[in-house]
Parts: sequence; structure tokens; C-alpha cells
Amino acid sequence: MIENSMFEEEPDVVDLAKEPCLHPLEPDEVEYEPRGSRLLVRGLGEHDLEEDEEDCESSAKLLGMSFMNRSSGLRNTTTGYRQGSNGPCSVPSARTMAACAFVVMIAVSVIMVIYLLPKCTFTKEGCYKKNQSMRFIQTQVKEKNSFPWAHTRLPTTIKPLRYEVNLHPNLTSMTFTGSVTILLQALQAKWNIILHSKGHNISKATIRLAVASEEHNVEVVEYNKTEQLAIIVPEALLEGHNYTLKLEFSAKISPHYYGFYGFTYTNEKNEKKLFAGTQFEPLGLRTVFPCFDEPAFKATFLIRIIRNKEHSAISNMPKKSSVVLENGLVQDEFYESVKMSTYLVAFVVGEIKNLSQEVNGTLVSIYGIPERIDQFHHALGVAVKVFEFFQNYFEVPYSINKLDLAAIPTIYAGAMENWGLITFQEQTLLHGTPSFSVTEIRLLRKIMAHEIAHQWLGNLVTMQWWNDLWLNEGFATFMEYFSLEKIADELSVYEELLENQFRYMKIDCLKSSQPMSSPASSVESLQQIGRMFEPINYFKGASLLLMLKTYVGEDVFQHALIRYLKKHSFSSIQNDDLWDNFNEVTGPTLDVKRIMKTWTLQNGLPLVTVQRKGRNVTVHQEKFIMKPEIQPSNESYLWEIPLSYITDRTNNSQYPSVFLLTKESDTIILPEEVEWIKFNVDMNGYYMVHYTDDWEALIKQLNTNPYVFSDKDRANLINNIFVLAGIGKVPLQQAFELIAYLGNETHNAPITEALYQTRFIFDLLEKVGHLDLASRLENRVLNLLHNQIQQQTWTDDGSLSMRDLRSKLLGFACTHNLKNCTTVAMKLFDDWMSSNGTQSIPLDVMSTVFKVGAKTEKGWSFLLSAYDTENSEGKKEMILKALASTADIRNLYRLMKISLDGNRIPTFRLSAIVQEMSQSLLGHLLAWNFVKENWDVLVQKLAVRSYPMRGIIAALTHMFSTKTRLSEVRGFFETQPEDTFKYNSIQDGLEVIQLNIQWMEKNLQALTLWL
Ligand SMILES: [Zn+2]
Repeated sequence: MIENSMFEEEPDVVDLAKEPCLHPLEPDEVEYEPRGSRLLVRGLGEHDLEEDEEDCESSAKLLGMSFMNRSSGLRNTTTGYRQGSNGPCSVPSARTMAACAFVVMIAVSVIMVIYLLPKCTFTKEGCYKKNQSMRFIQTQVKEKNSFPWAHTRLPTTIKPLRYEVNLHPNLTSMTFTGSVTILLQALQAKWNIILHSKGHNISKATIRLAVASEEHNVEVVEYNKTEQLAIIVPEALLEGHNYTLKLEFSAKISPHYYGFYGFTYTNEKNEKKLFAGTQFEPLGLRTVFPCFDEPAFKATFLIRIIRNKEHSAISNMPKKSSVVLENGLVQDEFYESVKMSTYLVAFVVGEIKNLSQEVNGTLVSIYGIPERIDQFHHALGVAVKVFEFFQNYFEVPYSINKLDLAAIPTIYAGAMENWGLITFQEQTLLHGTPSFSVTEIRLLRKIMAHEIAHQWLGNLVTMQWWNDLWLNEGFATFMEYFSLEKIADELSVYEELLENQFRYMKIDCLKSSQPMSSPASSVESLQQIGRMFEPINYFKGASLLLMLKTYVGEDVFQHALIRYLKKHSFSSIQNDDLWDNFNEVTGPTLDVKRIMKTWTLQNGLPLVTVQRKGRNVTVHQEKFIMKPEIQPSNESYLWEIPLSYITDRTNNSQYPSVFLLTKESDTIILPEEVEWIKFNVDMNGYYMVHYTDDWEALIKQLNTNPYVFSDKDRANLINNIFVLAGIGKVPLQQAFELIAYLGNETHNAPITEALYQTRFIFDLLEKVGHLDLASRLENRVLNLLHNQIQQQTWTDDGSLSMRDLRSKLLGFACTHNLKNCTTVAMKLFDDWMSSNGTQSIPLDVMSTVFKVGAKTEKGWSFLLSAYDTENSEGKKEMILKALASTADIRNLYRLMKISLDGNRIPTFRLSAIVQEMSQSLLGHLLAWNFVKENWDVLVQKLAVRSYPMRGIIAALTHMFSTKTRLSEVRGFFETQPEDTFKYNSIQDGLEVIQLNIQWMEKNLQALTLWL
């Protein structure tokens, strides 16, 4: 640590040259520089750097993308610059002093002015002479393989203002050439410019004063480890002056879906077509052209792309002109962009068509390959509706006069909010079937709302650095639910938000949980940046904003948000800036900043324990810990919690009472005595509640009339009591008493939560061989939900919420072999199979029908061939899960093998296969053995930190609940090379096994007695 702190205080190599003319160095001081260089390497840490390198690949994968090219081909080991005929104007030495002295003899007064001024200019001869000494220093630095900047973050002394970029991609050779002209401003006198670049061969580099025409060659030094370039200028850049830096380069197009990528797809006429697109968040733009690749360095971008005639190109901005070049190629120029962050730059080149509609002066378009054009209408309809909502809600005009939504023909899923050109993986935006399942309908609208919300929250106002990524992602996630509730209430998206809140609250309690907003200094490496993209940041962010909106009221929330957008348009902000805007709206009566900082700067969440004695309700908060024996370290956790509550006397969830708990304990005095009190109304708060006295009264109320509580409240009670029972705070029997009312439940959210919680217990029991107990539990739940299951029809009729419930209930019934269910499903499957897959199956029960069909050998084989010919990615996924649900070990093994090979079934899909297999005892053990045996191949194909691998690790480890298995899992990962054992997914897995063990210790005996 002392090396790092020393390094911080030590003037770095750049600083050595900061005030050259005032502090000439002596030769022995020059010796100091290698020391600086050594420190530079040590300060950064060799190990960290290695890790960073790995992270280039992993961070892309973490974000749901594929491999980044880490082949040496992309790493430019030979710095393709070499200028220096003039040499750099830099630190004067004794020799320089002598030269200066000579000049002094000629004109003392002139030299005094020049020499004592702290900066040189391009035209001052004296500096050229000084160059000799700088070249000496520079050479030494270079020989030591050093670099004149020691930090991962760029210096803030040079600011880019405008980029002019020319790109000429060759999709056949997968290479491109290009140039970038950067207009930049020196905020301090500097002798070099540090910016990002990765994988470029730079053939030319020049600089000139923005107002002058004379160009000067510059020297370029590259440092691969931090993906930085140092441009060593011939004369100091002067404070307040603008310069134009021009670089010419060539590089490779990435074969993976990160950076500037290209690929071939086969169209319906079986022709091979070339396609190129971009994905720059978080650090991809530096692979296209050298740039200041940090979100706070906002600038404008003028982009020109050369393409084939048959292709089209689109980018963030509308096209300005297209010129046919002599060689028959076409150069498109796009209008200069609005001021924006580098990660938002985007372009797409390919054979694409569009469908457009004007919305209040903005042209909204869907782009995709021509074969898919009949699927554009639906996507456009949704986009227009969502866009209109945000235009009205934010009251800040959208910044560009067009918004393109482009479908990229890949097998991956995801989307990126690039300003003016949102890119979607095709299957996310366009669907192959004329009708949609509930999941598909919700997913499309949610992703659309999320990315369009980003056009304001993220693009117009951006976080300064990745440590505050939640300001982008939490907001966009909150907005996707909020907007859809306003414009498409029938989607009942809140049900999904609730489900996600329950799941991520559990994850937030694990040891690996981080505060949403970390200090910027703790988020520097690619690995650390990648971590900020964990889904928990999205959902916890959304949950906190929901809590805040509920507390301050919808009007205040909107008012503060509009103010925030207006005030910070085209600039970047930190966590505090958001809360300051809220405080300015709420005034001195409510300190939103103070409240919200307790939520964003601490990890985890509070458990509120409620004790009621007469009219007095004592509320006590502590950090919620899943393993209560292990108390948190010395850190004292305290949240400011807006506690909302209703009672049997004041039961109006629209207007609940609210009490702000700012201390560890406090007392609420009710106006009258009550039968029960229910906190966290509608689950609008991010906390767990334990009632020491009221669980019984709440259970009684649910069994008498559950509808005095909203469906969100009923789901919330089910979640809280089962989680608390799991850690021994409440007897498990009481949790089952609470769901005894389920026979009268008509809503999706409470049934979904009850199914989730009981499924968890069933899995634990089954996986340790308590089959009798598991079967008793299964019967209990089937009996509870008997009525609801019988009422389901095998259709796609009804509201989306009811369709969703149908899908879950029939899936549950058939999984547990309820005869009525499997008979109907089998009939539907047989009819489908006899029609050779042409007969339609209602979409919402298709997954269940396939799973039942896959139980026979004939059905399984038919499904496997159907997988090969199926075009819809959604349906492919259903088929795959059905194949993985069979009890036939031979077929399961075959399926995993096919997926591991990756030809017929892509390897990343092994995650879905293993997750499905792990539902059964046999499948789970088979998958665990298979993954252990093939670990090396898997890691080679999918990095440990990738989403698919994390899915595999979670599915396997989360099902174990014995000490023997714990040591087996630990032993296996400990023997893996490198830092495998330290990965969060593996540590989380071990922690979950321990929690499962604890669950069994606390509940198994009692369960055996009464179930
Ligand atoms: Zn997002």
C-alpha cells in the first residue's frame, strides 16, 4: 500500500515536465525518472494489470455480449508512429540552460520574457533546442518500457471538444482504416496528451494550433496495459488554447459482438451477407479510434463511413450526404452529433430497410434486414407509444430529430441505448411469430421503454464515472416499469418488478453485495467496471427510486427529475447532484439527500422488527443478515427508512400513513388500538419486516378476508414470512399457515411468490433424498391450489396477468405429474407432432406441453429435430428446456455434450440446459459431474465471469445443502487455476450452500413433525 500512496504523492513523469522552463532538471535528477517509471509499474501492480487484461474479454461477456478479441493481433505491439524529426519540446536540462544562456547573450531582455514564461510555443526556437534534452529523457523512459502517465483514469488537463472521424471498413478482410481529428482544449500547460487506444496501428500523427495551418509531427507512445496513448507534443500546449490532433490508423474489426464488430449471416435465399455493428459500452470506442474514452469527456462527433453500394449505413445522427467515390464505393457523412459520451457512439452497416413514423418532429424508425420487414410494424407501434410518453413526461425535448431502433441479426439477446440509434439483438426487437407469449410481450416493451428512457437518463445526463452507473441503469429500469404502468396498465409489469425485488433483495444480503454508489477510486479496472453492470444495480436502483417516488409523491418526483434533466443537460453528474435537485424541490422540510445517501452508500438492506403493545408500535432496524449467527463487522448500518403502514382501522393502501425511521429504534403512537398493522405497503419500500406480535393477526385477516390487502401486500407478506422462517425468526409452520388462504387467491403475484417459496423447500428436501417429505409438501401445495389449477383453460385467453398465472399453474401441475394436466398436455403434443409441428399450440402453455412431450423417447427426438429447424429464438429456448427436463439420463448427457461441442446448440445455451436439469435430483447430479469433468473446456469457451457460466454455477451450487457437498464444491473450485475461487459467483455459491445447510438445521426436524 505504501507504494501506491507514495506513487500518488510522487510527481509522475508528466508532472516532471509540468513547468519545464521554471524548473530545469540536472542530469542526476534525470536519473529520477526511471525510478518514477519503476514506481509506475509497481504502483499499478503487475497482478492488477494481468487481471485487467482478462477483464477486457470478461467485461464484454458480463454485459451479455460475446468474447472480445484478445488475440495478440488486436494488440498493437509495434507502436506504429515514429515521428520526432523535430523532437519534443520538453524539460530543459543543463544543456538547455547553456543554450538559453547563449541566447541570453544575444538579447537578454527577450530571453528573460521567453524563458521565465512557464510555457513554450510552437514558434519559439528556444524550445527546439530544449528538445534535445527531452529526447534523452524520453528515450530513457521508453527503454524502460515506461509511460508518462501512471493512472488508469485519464488526466483532466486536456478536454476533447470535437471528433471528426473517417472510417473505411472492409468487412471481407475484417479490417478497417481510418483517421480521427480531435479538437481539444488545454486546461493547463501540458507537454503531452494522454488518451485511449486499443489495437491500432498508427501511421501518422500530427498536431496544430486550432487557429494555425502548420502541422507538426508528434511522437506517440503506447501503453497496452492501460490502453492509453501518450502524444508527446513538440512544444507545450498552452492553457486555454485549442489544438487539433490528427491520427491515421488501421485496425481489425472484431469477430465478436463488442467494439466495432462484423459477421456474416445467411438470408432466406441462402445467400451469405455481411453485417457490421457496434457495442461500445463501457470501453469499446477506443478500439475504433483513439479517443478520451471516459463518460465525462463529452464531445461532438462527426462521422464519415465508406461502404459498398448495396449496403446502408446509419449512425447516431441523420445522414447529411452520400458521395460516390472513384472506386465505386460510397462515403456517407452524418451530421455532427450532440455533445455526448464516447460509449454512446454507434453505427450499423449492412443491407437494411426501415419503417418510420414521425412523432412530434422526431422520425422514429425500425431498421432491420429486409426479410424481417413484416415484423417491423409491431415494434414501431410500441416504440412510438413509449417515445411519446417520455417526451411528455420529461418535458425536455428529445435532442436529435430522429430515433432509430436497429435489429442486429444475431442469436444473442440484449440492447444498447446509443443516442439516436438504439441497437437491439434481433430476437429482442422482432418476433418470428404473429402472436406473442406474455413473456415476449412484456420483454419487448420493457426493453424498449428502458432504452428510450436512457435517451434522457443516461444520454442527456450521464454519470461522471462508472461508479455511479446506477444513475443510468437504476433510473432506466425504474422508468421501464413506471412508464408501462402508465401507458400499458394491462401488462401488469409491477408483478415482474415485485418478483425481481424479492430475488435481488436476497442477493443483496450476500457477502459479495456492494453499495450501489462506490467511491470512484474503487472502480477503475475493467473488472471493477464490469461489476457495476450487475443486475442488482438495476433492480435495487429501481426499487429505491420507487420508494422515493412513493415517499415524496409523484408530482415532486417528476418535478425534481425534470429539474435535474434541465440543469445537467449535456453534462455529467454524481450521486449527490441528483439528490441536490430533489432537495431544491422539497426545500428545507425534507432532506432527500440525507435519506437517500443511507441507501446508495451502504450495501444490503434493513430488517425492521415491529413490536406492538396497545397503541404503541416500536420499530427497530438492523442490517438484514441471512446468517444471523454471523453479525456484521464493526460497521454500523443505519438507514433512514420511510416506513409506510396500514392497520385494520386505517386500511387504505392508496394513502398509507408514513413514519420516517431515522434511528435504530423509535415508537409510533397510533390514534387507537388496532387488530393488526402491516408495514411496507404495496412493497414500495426496500426493507424486510418482522412482526413479533402481529403475524398471527395478519394470518387471521388473510384467512378471513385476504382482499383487505392489495395483491402486492399479500405477495410481500408471503415473501417476508418465508424468508424469516428460513433463518429461524418465525416457525416454518406459521409461514404455511399464512398461505393456507391460497385457495381463495385470485391474483398472480401472491401465487407466484408462494410457488417460488415452496418450490425452494421442495428442491432442498428432494436434493438430500427426503423424497417422502418432498412429496408431502408437493401434495400440500397442489391441494392448496387445486381450485385454481382446475379453472385453467389451455388457451391464450384473458388478461396478460391471468395468462401468466395460467402458464405458471399448469407448468407447476404438469411438473408434479397431476394427471388432468399431463393428459391434456400429452394430447396437444401428440397432435402437434402428428401434424409435423404445423398445428399450433397456445403460446402460454407451449413450454408445459413440450416438457410433457419430452418425457417419451419419440417426443424427445422429435423436439430435438424441431430445435434444428425452428427460427424463433424464443421457441428454441422452450424446446431446449423441454429437452433438458427429461428423466432419461442418456438423453440428458447427449444434450449437454451437443451443447458443449457448440455446433448444433451454441455452448452458451448450456446454462439454460443445466438450470433446467438441476430442477430434478438426477439431472442435478448428472449436470454437476458433467460440469466438473468438462470444466476446462467450459472455461475456455465461456469465461468464468460470463452470464452463462454464472448461471451454471448458481444452478449447480444453489441446490446443495449438506456439509459434504459444501466441502466437495469448495475443494473442486480451490483446485482450479488462477483466481477462480475468488470469483463472486463461486463465493456466492458457497455462501448459498451454507445458508441451505442452515435452513435444513433450523427447519427439517419441525417440518418432519407437522407436514
Ligand atoms: Zn440500461
